[in-house]
Amino acid sequence: MSESMSFSQLALPEPILRAVLELGYEHPSPIQEAAIPKLLAGEDLLGQAQTGTGKTAAFALPLLARLDPAQNDPQILVLAPTRELAIQVAEAFQAYARYMPAFHVLPLYGGQNYTTQLKALKRGSQVIVGTPGRIMDHLDRGTLVLDKLRAIVLDEADEMLRMGFIDDVQTIMDATPPGRQVAMFSATMPNQIRAIAQKHLKNAHEVKIESKTSTVERIQQRYVMLDNNQKLDALTRILEGEEYDASIIFVRTKSATEEIAEKLGARGYAVACLNGDMNQAHRELTIRRLKSDQLDVIVATDVAARGLDVERISLVINYDIPYDSEAYVHRIGRTGRAGRDGKAILFVSPRERRLLRTIEHATRQPIEKMSLPTGQVIEQRRIESFRAQLAQTIEAKNLSFFQDLVNDWREKLETTDTDMAAALLYLAQKDSPLNVANQFPEIREPHSRDRDDRAPSSGRDKFSRGDRPERSGDRPERGGDRPPRQRRELKGDYTNYRIEVGKEHGVRAGDIVGAIANEANIDSQFIGNIKLFDHFSTVELPANIPAETMQHLKKVYVRKQKLNISVDTGSTAGGSTSGSAPSSAPRRERTETGSGPRPGAAPRAPRKPRD
Ligand code: AMP
Repeated sequence: MSESMSFSQLALPEPILRAVLELGYEHPSPIQEAAIPKLLAGEDLLGQAQTGTGKTAAFALPLLARLDPAQNDPQILVLAPTRELAIQVAEAFQAYARYMPAFHVLPLYGGQNYTTQLKALKRGSQVIVGTPGRIMDHLDRGTLVLDKLRAIVLDEADEMLRMGFIDDVQTIMDATPPGRQVAMFSATMPNQIRAIAQKHLKNAHEVKIESKTSTVERIQQRYVMLDNNQKLDALTRILEGEEYDASIIFVRTKSATEEIAEKLGARGYAVACLNGDMNQAHRELTIRRLKSDQLDVIVATDVAARGLDVERISLVINYDIPYDSEAYVHRIGRTGRAGRDGKAILFVSPRERRLLRTIEHATRQPIEKMSLPTGQVIEQRRIESFRAQLAQTIEAKNLSFFQDLVNDWREKLETTDTDMAAALLYLAQKDSPLNVANQFPEIREPHSRDRDDRAPSSGRDKFSRGDRPERSGDRPERGGDRPPRQRRELKGDYTNYRIEVGKEHGVRAGDIVGAIANEANIDSQFIGNIKLFDHFSTVELPANIPAETMQHLKKVYVRKQKLNISVDTGSTAGGSTSGSAPSSAPRRERTETGSGPRPGAAPRAPRKPRD
C-alpha cells in the first residue's frame, strides 16, 4: 500500500467514491491500487490474490464505474465457487453501488428457489453473481441472457477448479459476447487456470501481490482462528488475559477504529483511536497520551500507525488480517521496540487461512496457534490486579479515617475483620466481578473450511434468509431447506453411495461435487471418487454422514433428478445400468481421502441440452 495513494486519485465516479469513503476505507489495498486503473481502462486482468486482500473491491469498483446505468440487462457477471461467496460479492456490489440510482445486483446459486430467481431475473439486474452450476441452468433455460454483457469476473478460479466447476466455467465464458472484458482472480495459478487465462484473456495485465520477505525476531507471534462475529469477545478476553503494558489493535477501516475504541471505552479501557481522519495535532496528542500512560490501548488503521514508535507497546493485535505480509511486518514492528520483547496476535477467519500461510511463508516465521484465555485465567488476573491495587493503597494512602470507620463498624455490627473485609471486597468488585471462572463460555473455533464467516452486515442476510428455498415440486433445483451452514469435516471410513442421476441426464462430476458440497455442507475435499453410469452414479463419501444430512441429500435435485441417495449395495438391479454400465462394477476401493474431487478423474458425459 503506498502511503500517498488515496481512493480519490483512482478516477472513480463520485457516487462510487462516496460509498467507498463512507464505508471507512482509507486507502486502496495493494491489489486495488494495481487492478483498478487497468480495469477502469477496459483492460483484461489476471490477479493472483486471495481472500482478505480486498480483491472484491478491486474488480467491483472499476466495473461498476463502467456500467451503463440506463441499461437494465446483465452487464457484469461474476462467477464464484460457493453460495456464500456469491452472496458476499453481491453484497459488496450493493454496498459500493449504494449511490448509483436504479442499480440492481442479483445473486444466483443452487439451493435457492427458481421462482424467486426467475422473478428477480425478469425485473432485470445489471450485475449477476452466481455459482457456475446455477448460471449454467439459467443459460440453458434461456432465463439468463448475456448478450449485453460487458465484463465477466472469475472469482477464486482455483477453487472453482478444485470443486470441479471448470468445464461449466469454460462453457459460460464461451456464451459471453467476444468483446467483453475479463477479470480473473485466483489465489494460486495451476496450469489449468493459466490455460483458461491464455484462452480467454486479451493482453491481460497480470497483477500479483508479491510479499517482500523479512524476518521479525523477538516478537512472539500467535494466531486465533475465529469467525468475524467472535472477534470482539476474543479481543476483550485477550486484553484481560494477556500481560502487556500498552496495546495496539489494527483494523481495516476508520469506522472500525471508532467502533472498537467506543466498545472498549465502555468496558473501562483507557483507549483512543488513530485513523486517517485525525489531523496531525490530534494524532500527536494521542501518541503523547499513550507514551505517558494516560492511554493503554490504541485502535488504528495501517496508515495512521505508520512509523509509530512507542516503547510501551508490548502487544499488537491484528483484529482484521492485513492485506499482505509487508503490512503484517509493519504492524507487528510496532512492538518489540528498543530491544524489548513483544507479542503479536492475529485474528484469522477460516476463509483467510491461506493469507495466514502466505504471511508465515514470507516472514519465515511460524505463527503459533493460541487458545483464548479461559474464565479461570481471567479470574486469576482480576484477583491479582485487585490484590496489587490493595497492596498499593495500604502502602501509599493515609487510611486513618477509614481505619476508624472499620473499628467502629466492627463493634456495631458485631462481626469479624474477615467478614468485614470480605463484604467490602464484595462491594468493591461489583463493577468488575472477581468470581468469574465460569462466566466465560468457550469460544469455539469455527469449522476449518466454513466459508460463511464474515460478520453479519446490514444487507447480508437479505439474500440468504429471505430467499430460503420453498420447494416447488417439479422444479429442478438443488435442495430444499439446508442444514446448518457450518461445513462439516467428516473423517474416518468412506462408503460408496448411489445417487439417482446419471449420464443420460447430462450430469457431470462437477455437478455432483457442487451439489453435495453446497447443499449438504460437506467440504469438497471429503468427496471422493465419482463414477457416472447411464442412469445413476456413485460417489464416495465419509461413512459417518449424519442421518439428517442424508435425509436432506435424498431430496436434492441435480439435473432435474432427485438424488435419492442411498448406500450403494453394489447391485445394479432396477434396470439402472440396462447393460450399458461400464463393464466393471463400480470400484469399491477407496480413492485417497482428502485429495478432493480430481477434475477429470471421474468419467464425464457430454452435457446434454436441457429443456
Ligand atoms: P476481500 O479480500 O475482497 O474478501 O475483502 C476483505 C475485507 O476487506 C472486506 O471486509 C472488505 O470490506 C475490506 N476492504 C476491502 N478493501 C478495503 C480498503 N481499501 N480499506 C479497508 N477495508 C477494505
